Amino acid sequence: MPKKRRNAGRSKHGRGKVTNVRCTNCGGCCPKDKAIKRFNVRNMVDGSSRKDITEACVIRNYALPKLYIKQHYCISCALHSRIVRSRARVNRKMRRPRSTAATLDMTTRTVA
Ligand SMILES: [Zn+2]
Repeated sequence: MPKKRRNAGRSKHGRGKVTNVRCTNCGGCCPKDKAIKRFNVRNMVDGSSRKDITEACVIRNYALPKLYIKQHYCISCALHSRIVRSRARVNRKMRRPRSTAATLDMTTRTVA
């Protein structure tokens, strides 16, 4: 049977079983190596409230705590919420993040 991807969209590397994670969005089960993982660092308060808090704060240069959230998405949710997008057959081979791939593509173009 033809395969869309050599690794079937996973990074299992010879392991038989990989633990499941729960999708952040829908709660569905997804293998950990297949899930789309995003590490979000957000401020606890929005910009305007942050300014008020900073002005009202007694301690100088107090850094407001941040939220560090590791999010796992199943493939359907990642596609639906446009975290990842389906790519053309030739572009599927690119393994680097999009920003790095774009710069690499630019350099190869100038060399060739
Ligand atoms: Zn999901």
